[in-house]
Order: sequence, then structure tokens, then C-alpha cells
Amino acid sequence: MSETIKTDAVIIGAGPVGLFAIFELGLLDMKAHLIDILDKPGGQCAELYPEKPIYDIPGMPEVSGQKLTDQLMEQAAPFDPTFHFNRMVTGLEKIDDKTWRVTTDEDEVFEAPVVVIAAGGGSFQPKKPPIHEIDVYEQADTSNGLGVHYAVRKMEAFKDQDILISGGGDSALDWVLNLQPIAKSMTLVHRRDVFRAAPDSVNKMRALVDEGKVNLHIGQITELVGENGQLSGAHLKPAEGDPIEINCTSFLPFFGLTMKLGPISDWGLNLNENLIEVDTEKFATDQDGIYAIGDINTYPGKLKLILSGFHEAALMAHHAFKRVHPDQKLTFQYTTSSTSLQKKLGVN
Ligand SMILES: Cc1cc2nc3c(=O)[nH]c(=O)nc-3n(C[C@H](O)[C@H](O)[C@H](O)COP(=O)(O)OP(=O)(O)OC[C@H]3O[C@@H](n4cnc5c(N)ncnc54)[C@H](O)[C@@H]3O)c2cc1C
Repeated sequence: MSETIKTDAVIIGAGPVGLFAIFELGLLDMKAHLIDILDKPGGQCAELYPEKPIYDIPGMPEVSGQKLTDQLMEQAAPFDPTFHFNRMVTGLEKIDDKTWRVTTDEDEVFEAPVVVIAAGGGSFQPKKPPIHEIDVYEQADTSNGLGVHYAVRKMEAFKDQDILISGGGDSALDWVLNLQPIAKSMTLVHRRDVFRAAPDSVNKMRALVDEGKVNLHIGQITELVGENGQLSGAHLKPAEGDPIEINCTSFLPFFGLTMKLGPISDWGLNLNENLIEVDTEKFATDQDGIYAIGDINTYPGKLKLILSGFHEAALMAHHAFKRVHPDQKLTFQYTTSSTSLQKKLGVN
């Protein structure tokens, strides 16, 4: 276990609502650490529809999912949040009446009086390819590149490996390009010779194929080969011709992501059809100090809209203040007229 990180608020999920929560907490002098299983902020906006326009954010007649994420990051910047990407929050336990402990699958430990669950539809998790007994070769240890991995957390783990990557989107192509220089060999398999990834990445990949640095096969991986859980190869059914065996010690399938509630269901919170029940006064759960905002919560009349999550973040922060600063009086202030708020924002 790494050294415990102590902070005012741990925010689970860096989607639009988690990002706005940094701002609302920050205005009231509460520091936040955010944890997300994705490798970037923005949640559904950045992962599912970065280029699609959103038309119902107040004051923004049209904004793309990525642009909204960028603007929320800019708005949160004065409060200097700390982001922990590429890790899933796995544990939430009460230490005492004032403290919650949050743990991740990277063995980090956080302690805070306030935990804000802004986990949307749950954590984004990889879709697995339909390969019989693939789980035999799956690796939980992210420092070791051997076997099957659905994400690259440490590039160094894949040094000098015979790497097989499967998929035709941005993740597959990005990792072909990034890992090829350190790999012993690099093979890319995709079911057709058309790639959804950015054209520049596709061009770079094809140039590496022409130089003999990447082996490209059109077809499907049907089976993995190895002994005692040690991967040594994969069977490929090509689009044309006879099946072949590809030599590989690491297999990285990139078949997209799906949203799953994940460990949140084990934390003893009041759930209603996989959503966390909250009150509408403070967006608190039935556990003191645990709040749920955005798509993950439910209450009478809930609308799963980004603007609802923003409102919920503001009310959550006003209540959370009392847990973090029990001896201080909270005065309601406007950002337009309060010099103290403007100082915190760095505009005065
Ligand atoms: C195609 C599409 C179009 C949409 N259009 C609109 C629109 O026009 N207007 C509108 O208001 N809304 C729209 N929505 C809905 C909107 O995107 C959601 O309401 C919004 O993203 C919810 O934000 P959130 O921060 O609550 O959750 P999310 O955006 O879902 O973010 C939650 C984050 O939490 C992370 N997470 C969850 N569990 C864990 C865990 N255990 N450990 C680590 N990380 C975890 C996830 O990986 C994710 O990044 C649209 C949705 C889709 C799919």
C-alpha cells in the first residue's frame, strides 16, 4: 500500500459533474482529489461523444462534449485539483465519524471527511473479445506486460515483449504507435482493412508496416496459446487463406468500453435499480459524509442531464462545508460581487 493521501474531498469520477464539483468545493475552501478509471477527464462527454454538440447547457447555445470538458477543466484549475486516472475505486470504508477511507485497484489509499460519488453510469470497463478461456491469460498485475491486458497503465511493462494488438479504433492504433519502439515485435490484427482511428494514426501505422516494423493481419483472433497461464501465441483466422499462429507474449485487445456499476454496489449504500438514493436538500446518501451527484443518483423527478448534476454539486458543497470546516460559518456569496471568492479564482 502507498502512503495515505489526506484531503478534504475525494471525488469518484471525473465526468462533467465531478469536474464541476471541484469548482463548487473550491469556492468553499475544500481541496479535492479525483479518481477515474479512464485515462482522461470528461466521462461520457469525452469518451462517448467528444465531437457531438450539446445544446442544453445553460448559457452555451452549442458546445461539444470535449469543449465542455476543456472548459470545466479551465474553470476548476484555480483550485488545483489532483487527478488520479487509470485506476478504479474499489473500496470505501468508514474509519471514524469524521473520516472515510477510499482505496483503488492501484493500492492507493485516500482519507477524507467527504466522499463525492460522481460515477455516472458506473465505471467504463473494456469489452472483452469472444475468445474461449481468455481469462486464463488475463493479468491483474499492471506492472507486468505478459498475458492479456485491456489497458496500458505502464508502458515500461511492455518493453521487449512480442506484442499483439487487436482493434481498429484510436486506442488500438495509438498503442501500436507508442509501444512499437520498445517492443520486441509488434503485430496488429483487425477484422477488416478499414480503420476507425484518426487518419494520421492510420497513415503512421501503415508506414511502419511498409518499413517492416509492424506486422498487419486482417482477420480475427480465435484462440490463445500457452502453458500454465503463460501466453506464447494466438491463432488467427485470416479474412482470406488458412489459419496461422502468431507469436506473442502480450495481447492487448481494444474492443471499446462499456459502463458497469462495478464495486459501488458493494459499499452498503441505499441503491435503487443500481442508482444511489439521495435527498434533494444536500444530495447526501444515507451515510454521513458520502454524497452522490450526477447520473449515479436517484430521487423523485431526477433528470439525467448535465445541468442537474451541476445544481446537485453546488448544494452538495454547501453541506459538505460543515463536515470539513465544522468551526467556520458559511456565508452565501456571489462570484460577481465577492472579492474573497474572486481572490480564490485568481481574478482579483
Ligand atoms: C450520446 C450521448 C449524448 C448525450 N447528450 C446529452 C445532452 O445533450 N445534454 C445533457 O445534459 N446530457 C447528455 N448526455 C448525458 C450526459 O453525458 C450525462 O448526464 C453526464 O455525462 C453525466 O455526468 P456524470 O459526471 O454524472 O457521469 P459520467 O459522465 O458518466 O462520468 C462518470 C465517471 O466516473 C468514472 N467512474 C465510475 N465508477 C468509477 C470507479 N469505481 N472508479 C473510477 N472511476 C469511476 C467513469 O469512468 C466516468 O468517467 C448524453 C449522453 C450520451 C451517451
